[in-house]
Amino acid sequence: MRAIHIPQLLKQPGKTQVVEVGEHLEGLETLTPVRGEVRVTHQGSYLEVQGRGEAIVTLTCDRCLQNYNHRLETNSKELIWLREPLEEADYPLEREVSREDLVETLPPHGYFHPQDWIYQQLCLALPQQQLCQADCGGIAVDGSDAVTEVDRRWAALAQLKASLPEES
Ligand SMILES: [Zn+2]
Repeated sequence: MRAIHIPQLLKQPGKTQVVEVGEHLEGLETLTPVRGEVRVTHQGSYLEVQGRGEAIVTLTCDRCLQNYNHRLETNSKELIWLREPLEEADYPLEREVSREDLVETLPPHGYFHPQDWIYQQLCLALPQQQLCQADCGGIAVDGSDAVTEVDRRWAALAQLKASLPEES
């Protein structure tokens, strides 16, 4: 997937470029290539990015530690502000950390990387709790065997008792 040169977007029809995704992404292990698309529109002061992607991943269940396959999907939209990164000295000294600081920004003459973007979205879509099934009982403790074990010992005891001469 090629990086998109942000100023070039302005020359595209509708100031929009659509990038097809159909490959394995570096850093994200998937059984199937990631399929989807990323649509980027230049809105003047910001980029509007919309994208979807899906792939099958193998996860390890948090409870029973078995591997299972999971369909990882994302369908998201993000606004990325276009502005030059500020030098440290440009910040007011006692600057409050505002919400704006947390928003993604890109330099207006820089590049947008669709591959990185879809990678991040898919990582965010990974389940926090990984369970092979909602009611996974965890690592199997074979309770029935334990009971049988006790039963067998009782049986042996009963046998022993039977073989002893009856008390008169
Ligand atoms: Zn499990």
